[in-house]
Amino acid sequence: MTILEGFPCGPFQTNAYILACSETHKGVFIDPAPESLDVLTEAATGYKMEGILLTHSHWDHIADLKALKRSFHIPVYVHPLDAKNVRTPGSDGVPLAFPIEGVEPDYDLNDGQIFHLGHLELYVIHTPGHTPGGVCFYLEKEKILIAGDTLFKGAIGKLSLPTADPSAMWKSLKKLEKLPPETRVYSGHGPPTTIGAESWLPRAKELFS
Ligand SMILES: [Zn+2]
Ligand SMILES: [Zn+2]
Repeated sequence: MTILEGFPCGPFQTNAYILACSETHKGVFIDPAPESLDVLTEAATGYKMEGILLTHSHWDHIADLKALKRSFHIPVYVHPLDAKNVRTPGSDGVPLAFPIEGVEPDYDLNDGQIFHLGHLELYVIHTPGHTPGGVCFYLEKEKILIAGDTLFKGAIGKLSLPTADPSAMWKSLKKLEKLPPETRVYSGHGPPTTIGAESWLPRAKELFS
């Protein structure tokens, strides 16, 4: 079974997640948001944490990355197209709200890759548009999508930022639209939703461009 807990943290209430396999107690952190270190550390009690996965490299998703990696000594996974901003936060042109220390990522996340976490399988779906190296994590058996800032309840990730590419976003949303409607979606900000509840997805381009 899947354990998934989200913690809204920092000035943008970015959802930091802990995801774990209830049988093996193996877990990962996803998107260590500002001020998430303590709450994530507490949530990880009793789990064997195996890594830190990033849906993308915007500063509000990586602010506590250095501290979390230092504390747990675990590898960092990110799509290669977002790796530079993990090494050098702010190099993506998005102004930082406060200084953030960079981290050298350990492993790439690529489209179609499967990340094994105990008995769980996370499929990496590359969803550029909000950032070039944005990814979603899809647990097919459990019908769970961890969507980062690609898809929110009733909205999509900002396309006004220097990292954005609207035409890539429309293609990425087409990928998500094809997932089963009952798929539960856990976003980078705000409450969970389902693919079926976001019935506007096929009209995303006309609604948000
Ligand atoms: Zn973002
Ligand atoms: Zn965000």
